[in-house]
Amino acid sequence: MNRYISEKLRLDVALLANFRCEYCRIHEDDLFFSYQIDHIISIKHGGETDLENLAYSCSMCNQNKGSNLGTYLPDSKRLVRLFHPRKDTWKTHFKVNNGEIIGKTKIGLTTIKVLDLNNVDRVILRQILTESGRY
Ligand SMILES: [Zn+2]
Repeated sequence: MNRYISEKLRLDVALLANFRCEYCRIHEDDLFFSYQIDHIISIKHGGETDLENLAYSCSMCNQNKGSNLGTYLPDSKRLVRLFHPRKDTWKTHFKVNNGEIIGKTKIGLTTIKVLDLNNVDRVILRQILTESGRY
């Protein structure tokens, strides 16, 4: 399995994402650490290293996601998959209210839980960015 991500492929992913994290939607310019290329379906689960399976991700989302594919929600006995930036539309699964990301679907709720999108520091950052017109 090819893990190598060329500079061109990395740029293609960043351009596709408009340099925003494809999970929490924060722009790369607004975080200190450089962004990472996420394998949406990790290599160990058979994911390929191509544009269809790569997402632009902040380090927090990427670390929290790891190789996870989904989780169980408290009210669900079925495994629910994570948001897939190449197959799903962000606004279908999420909305933002005062910095907090709200899940509109089980996929949205699953992604918020696994990626810890509403960690208090992250909510405060999104509130500040919203107030300054950057989010
Ligand atoms: Zn993120």
